[in-house]
Amino acid sequence: MNVLVINCGSSSLKYQLLDMTTEKVMAKGLAERIGIDGSVLTHEAAGKDKVKFEQAMETHKDALNILMDALVSPAHGVIKSLEEISAVGHRTVHGAETFCDSVVINADVIEKMEECSELAPLHNPANLIGIRACQELLPNVPMVGVFDTAFHQTLPAEAFMYPLPYELYEEHKIRKYGFHGTSHKFVSRAAAELMGEKIENLKLISCHLGNGASLCAIKGGKSVETSMGLTPLAGLEMGTRCGDIDPAIIPFLVNKGYSVKEVDEIMNKKSGVLGVSGVSSDFRDVEGAADEGNKRAQLALDIFHYRVVTTIGAYVAAMDGVDGIIFTAGLGENSVTSRKAICDRLNFLGIKLDVTANSQRGKAMIISAADSKTKVMVIPTNEELMIARDTMELVK
Ligand code: ADP
Repeated sequence: MNVLVINCGSSSLKYQLLDMTTEKVMAKGLAERIGIDGSVLTHEAAGKDKVKFEQAMETHKDALNILMDALVSPAHGVIKSLEEISAVGHRTVHGAETFCDSVVINADVIEKMEECSELAPLHNPANLIGIRACQELLPNVPMVGVFDTAFHQTLPAEAFMYPLPYELYEEHKIRKYGFHGTSHKFVSRAAAELMGEKIENLKLISCHLGNGASLCAIKGGKSVETSMGLTPLAGLEMGTRCGDIDPAIIPFLVNKGYSVKEVDEIMNKKSGVLGVSGVSSDFRDVEGAADEGNKRAQLALDIFHYRVVTTIGAYVAAMDGVDGIIFTAGLGENSVTSRKAICDRLNFLGIKLDVTANSQRGKAMIISAADSKTKVMVIPTNEELMIARDTMELVK
């Protein structure tokens, strides 16, 4: 059974075709600059050369047409006909309280997804465009929506409610939703396997540390607390996002003459490690500058590590313990120094790193020493595989 995984952004489309008997990627690619000049689709099939299609793509449907031609082409393809695609899994960002799990997409689901768009105006409409285009091009193939928020629908009310007037929750659905759910779910299952334990018996904290970063407390396999909120702006310090700040800073700045739009732009695009360091939003650049003695770069990293550590502390309290801590995503998987800086401040959990193991990259492994009271792991995340697994499960 082959599953095509689609992840549509406003002007981009990422895809992977997976053979689900082996869970191997048969082909993958990325279309960029859809609807703008210079659109390009990069396609890579297993065992074949990477190829670039530089041709106009007005819409996501144009991108899908190119990728489907590529998938069946003798030169770059991996299947003989589109009939070899058994199902399509769509990454969908916001499922609000409507979607607690992945779902088979039908007219009713599309209508409900439209209702959720208000909460993710940048992401959900793009996801829906991708779904509609696939429906036109592959009308008889079942499709599944996998929501970034769904995994966090198990949060208890004490964790997801903001102490605002209750009417704001009833009228405007203002509450914590959390994101990166597909990643937190994937790495927690992989961690249980690595530990040789049943997920039902474990208390885990997953640290998804990339440009966007979030932590998740997972008790018995269920998300019970997470650091992002109504939107992905909340929680940790990120590449360009500020994370949690005193909310009164917003009216304070507005009173100083900034428009609401400007404040929003500052918090989402000009803050985080970029804003503090003044160097870059890319952690590699900031780590490099700090190594060369740049004090603000070091401060940006110190804030980042401090917030991860104090959030871990809060989640240990929320779960009344922790058995394992997982590092994943760009920084979590690759930054030996950040993992060390964070773990060095977790003495209260009896954590001891295995220095040799911590210096490895690219594979799932335990990086804590044998006598560490809490296990620490690196698990490369794989959201596409998780989406494909959910898709196969639902259409089987
Ligand atoms: P997103 O999907 O949120 O855009 P990723 O999970 O791809 O982000 O993570 C990107 C971040 O990971 C970048 O800031 C990058 O600098 C960081 N990163 C990748 N490799 C390394 C590394 N070797 N050392 C430090 N940071 C790294």
